[in-house]
Amino acid sequence: MLDIRQIPVLSDNYVYLVREPASGAVAVVDPAVSDEILAAAGKLGWKITHILNTHHHPDHVGGNLDIKAATGCTIVGPAHDPDRIPGMEVQVKDGDTYQFGAETADVFFVPGHTRGHIAFWFKASDALFCGDTMFSIGCGRLFEGTPQQMWSSLSRLRALPPETRIYCAHEYTASNVKFAVTIEPGNKALRDYEADVKDKRAKNIPTVPSTLKLERAANPFLRADEPALQAAIGMAGKPADEVFAEVRRRKDVF
Ligand code: ZN
Ligand code: FE
Repeated sequence: MLDIRQIPVLSDNYVYLVREPASGAVAVVDPAVSDEILAAAGKLGWKITHILNTHHHPDHVGGNLDIKAATGCTIVGPAHDPDRIPGMEVQVKDGDTYQFGAETADVFFVPGHTRGHIAFWFKASDALFCGDTMFSIGCGRLFEGTPQQMWSSLSRLRALPPETRIYCAHEYTASNVKFAVTIEPGNKALRDYEADVKDKRAKNIPTVPSTLKLERAANPFLRADEPALQAAIGMAGKPADEVFAEVRRRKDVF
C-alpha cells in the first residue's frame, strides 16, 4: 500500500509525496515548487527517486529541474506531450503500465484541460492522480481540448472502481460546490457534501482526496448522461457530450 502525503503549496495546489514501502521508492506527483517539497521529504526522511507529471502547466512542473538536480530522480511524464515537460526522461502513454517499486500505475491519456494530459492509477492502492482533469465536484478548464474530449476522458476515469481515491491537484471544492448546486439543487449527495465541505474548509481541513463514489453521485461534470441532471438543466434526452459542454459553459461564466 502506498504511503501518500499531501503538501499544500502556492494558493491552492496539492503536491503529493508517494512512498512505496517495499522498495523505498518515493515519487513526487506534479511538483509545483521545489524547496517546500525537498524540505517535506527531508523531514519525513524520504529520498525522492521519481517525479510523476500529469501535464505541462507551470504549477505542475515548476519544481522538476531543481528537484532532479538535488536528488537525481527520474522524471516520468506524458509521451503525448514530449516537448513541454522539463527534464522528462521516461515517456508513458495511454494503456502503459509504469512499475513503481512493488506498485504498478496504469496510465490514462485524458486530453481536455491540455492536449497531452495523463493520469496515473495505482489500482492496488485505490489511488488516482488525475492532475487538473477531475477535481472534487469539478473538472479542469478546457484550455487545449474540446468538450467531447473532456467528456470522453472523464467517462474513462468514472469507470474506475467507486472506492478509488481522487488525488486531484487543487483545492477548488468549495467554489465547485457553489456552482454545482446551481445545476442540480435537488441532488441529495451534493447537498450533504456541501455541508461537509463548508465544515472542513472552515477548519482548514483538505477536502481532497475524495472518492469516485462521491464524485459519481455529486459531480455535475461526471453526470452529463444522468436523466436527473439533464432534466435539471432542461436538456432531457440530449447527447451526453452536449450536456457536458453546456455545464462546462455555465461554469466558465459562473
Ligand atoms: Zn493545469
Ligand atoms: Fe493546475
